[in-house]
This record gives sequence, C-alpha cells and structure tokens, in this order.
Amino acid sequence: MYVAQLRFKLIADTDFNRAETAIRRYIEALIFNGQILGREFPTAWQQDSFSSRVVLPAEDALLQKYHSARGLYALEQLAEAGLAYPQLQLQGMDLMSQHTDPCDSAGFYILYSRFSDTCSALRCGEHFAPVPLYKLHNSGADYEQLIRWQLQYQALDEIQMQHSRVLLKSAERSLQQLNSNLNKQGRRLATQLEKANSKAVYYALYSGSTMDCTAEAGKTCPGCGGDWRLARPLHQLFDFQCRHCRLVSNIAWDCQSPS
Ligand SMILES: [Zn+2]
Ligand SMILES: [Zn+2]
Repeated sequence: MYVAQLRFKLIADTDFNRAETAIRRYIEALIFNGQILGREFPTAWQQDSFSSRVVLPAEDALLQKYHSARGLYALEQLAEAGLAYPQLQLQGMDLMSQHTDPCDSAGFYILYSRFSDTCSALRCGEHFAPVPLYKLHNSGADYEQLIRWQLQYQALDEIQMQHSRVLLKSAERSLQQLNSNLNKQGRRLATQLEKANSKAVYYALYSGSTMDCTAEAGKTCPGCGGDWRLARPLHQLFDFQCRHCRLVSNIAWDCQSPS
C-alpha cells in the first residue's frame, strides 16, 4: 500500500462548499471502486489548492482506465466546481498496511476481513495477500456493496474483540453463524465475484467461541454437514475448507489458547 497526496488546484472561482463536495464525491467514487483504501481522507486548504491524503493499493491505482463510470463522472465534475484534474504525489510505502498481492490473476480467492484491516477484503488464495478490487471483473457498477459489507463486518468484529462488550454475544453471533445477515450478504458477494471472474471465491467464516471445545476439531461443515477438516491448516489460519460450500474456517479461537 502507498501513501499519496492528491492535489486539486483551483482554476476558477468557487466556494469551499462546492469544492469540498466535488472532492468528496470523487474520492468516494474511488473508495467504492477499491482504488483508494479506508474511509478517511484528511483534506487541507493550501493557498491555491486542496490537498487530500489517501492510501492506495498500488502505485498506479488511480489511472483513469481503472475508474468506474461513477469515478469518471466525478472526475469531470471537478472542473464544474472550479478544480483542475488532481495531481498525484506518491509519498512512499505505507508501513502500517499489508502488501498487495503480486499475482496478475490468482488461482482462487478468499473473502476475509478483520477489524484492523485497512485493505481489500478479497485475498489471493495462494499468498493470502489483499487483491485490489478494481483489477477484478465485476457484475455491478463498482464495489460499493462489498465495501459497505466490509465496513459492517469490521465494526462487528471490533465490538466482539472488546473485553467489555456492549452487545454481549450478538456481534459474535453475526460473525460466526453461517446464516446471519452479515454472512449471507458476504457469501452472496463472494458468489457474484466467483461468477464474474470464473475463479473459486471462498468465504472465510469466523469462529471465535463454542459450547464444546472437545468436539471443535471434528466439527462438520455448517453448509452441507460434510467432512471439511484440512490435513494441514491453510495460511496457518484455516483448519477447515469445504469446496462444495466454498467455505473456509478455523478451530474456534477460544479452543486454541489456554485463556
Ligand atoms: Zn497471489
Ligand atoms: Zn459444505
């Protein structure tokens, strides 16, 4: 991931509101297409231009050829708000985030997210590294649904990781029950990506706690009831994989540690 500065030079009379709205619309279009990561883009006024700090999945992530129709439209609208096309200044690698997947095209993918991620929720099946979404084929206009799903997933994960949970077990249930709304939505998105890209897309089903740790290692696939235990964990993270249901999962965390 790369830290970059986007500079929007003023080329005509405008007011702050119009300029700010146009910048927000443009950057959000890029966020919902996976070209900019995260939701924050601190923006400063600097004499004759606005400057926004963004994180990119790749150095060339902002090329127009990757833009969605919405991104191209928002780019054109900048001029209406008195702003020039943005100038990109790369500032260097982001030391705080994961490295983007090196594969041109992965063999298979895993849809996976945790609260602390600042990257794409789609991982390469081989390297488990995040895959920039704009490089994939997509059945929709952009990846807004997937990114909104990821935001909710991360919010619930954040809640269930806290020691004094405000939602008791309900956040964890959303994450680990196969048929929670969150997981149904995530699996539907994985299926859409699989169809659009003709590559298997597995859904990573979180497993945090269970009533019975003695049965945990031998549990069956919650989708089909079949045996899905792997001889060796995948990416040192997943103990289970069901090819039929396109699911990967782990032995519940509570059963893996003495705490
Ligand atoms: Zn890869
Ligand atoms: Zn299954």
